[in-house]
Amino acid sequence: MVEHKEVVKIEGTDFPKLITKNQGRIRVAAYARVSTEKDAQQNSLKAQKSYYIDLIDNNPKWEFAGLYADEGISGTSFGRRTAFNAMIANAKAGFIDMIVTKSISRFARNTVDTLTIIRELKSIGVAVWFEKESIDTLDAKGEFIITLLSSLAQEESRSISENCTWGQRKRFSDGKATVPFARFIGYNRGRNGEFIVNEEQAVTVRAIYAMYIIGFPISAIKQKLEALRIPSPGDKENWNIGNIQSILRNEKYKGDALLQKTYTVDFLTKRKKKNEGELPQYYVSEHHEAIVSSTIFNFVQEKLESERGKKRMALTPFSSKLICEVCGSYYGPRVWHADKIGKHKKKVWQCKHLTACGTPHVEDERLQQVCRDLVCDKIAKSDVRENLIGIISSVVIAESRLDRIVETLNDIGGGMKMTDYSIADIAMIIESVEVKRNCRLEFLFIDGVNFNIALYQS
Ligand SMILES: [Zn+2]
Repeated sequence: MVEHKEVVKIEGTDFPKLITKNQGRIRVAAYARVSTEKDAQQNSLKAQKSYYIDLIDNNPKWEFAGLYADEGISGTSFGRRTAFNAMIANAKAGFIDMIVTKSISRFARNTVDTLTIIRELKSIGVAVWFEKESIDTLDAKGEFIITLLSSLAQEESRSISENCTWGQRKRFSDGKATVPFARFIGYNRGRNGEFIVNEEQAVTVRAIYAMYIIGFPISAIKQKLEALRIPSPGDKENWNIGNIQSILRNEKYKGDALLQKTYTVDFLTKRKKKNEGELPQYYVSEHHEAIVSSTIFNFVQEKLESERGKKRMALTPFSSKLICEVCGSYYGPRVWHADKIGKHKKKVWQCKHLTACGTPHVEDERLQQVCRDLVCDKIAKSDVRENLIGIISSVVIAESRLDRIVETLNDIGGGMKMTDYSIADIAMIIESVEVKRNCRLEFLFIDGVNFNIALYQS
């Protein structure tokens, strides 16, 4: 693919006049890179030259030893770096005492190059001053900091477009987030880029959280949304699993903002990469108005986390909840027949090692009874429970134009009352039940409350 680019012409062979040591003043050369991007004007050779001449002339101890400039988008795409090489050669020949340059990421191609060159120059007493990072390589702490920063610089120099990402990073460190509002449901962009809740879309967001908490698999949430003809974030008829997962995971909905989640890896292709620690991230709490409470949000994160990798086997409410005290594996459902014709059968839960662990089997009916009693007696005031009901009813009492969502939530149990639990509702607030050898059950609820109950009444 041939791309037409606006190219800034550089007089590559017109290197600075070399000067010899003069009245104890330091001979300072500047190294610049001239961008071939559209914003080349503000970054032009001329502008950089006058900037560096001013900078150096204004320091009485410095003497301008010239500006060396190469053309390129990023450190890695520099081909010959003619000016850079000439500058280093002149420094080694004793004509330059110090090099001033904008930043580590603009200096050499990669970490190894950066460190090699800096050390070579250092060994002959030539300093490099990085403006952005305020580092003097001859300074005592210089090399230590450079080692650290270079590893960042290497990622950065992998062609993050400097000018545009600088602006972005400045915004990040000021704590201002932005999202592609057109493809982001729940918020509109305010005049100054602030987040403004879009009430209609916020209901959809809350419904997604509610359905997930109630125990809908994400695929079922997708089906519901499509059946209700709720448009996806890209304003399409079809939702995909990824849309829903990212809505469930996005901290923006609880009003916070994690900044610099991704960064541009390849400036030319605009390819983005997840930031896995290559660049700093900033977390801003209460950045904007929340759509779901942080209790709800945090609960959903834990649920997502605990379900990751766990097989959604049977859809029975207690699957993957009962754990054997002895071997730690999940109890599985089993059907016991009391007679040969199969007329009387009962469902029980058993360790996969059957009786080998010495832990008792649990009759499903008994388990359900214990759960109901427990909820009625003890869990009714659980914070998470209240929160769940709160969020669900906030959707249920929404405006009449949102009737379709209300209906949905009703038919998935959204209108439940404190006295009216289905066993599935109860199971959803149970994190785990450990079955003990002494015939007791250790319940752990999702909000961290636990109870130890006898399996059989004495
Ligand atoms: Zn076991």
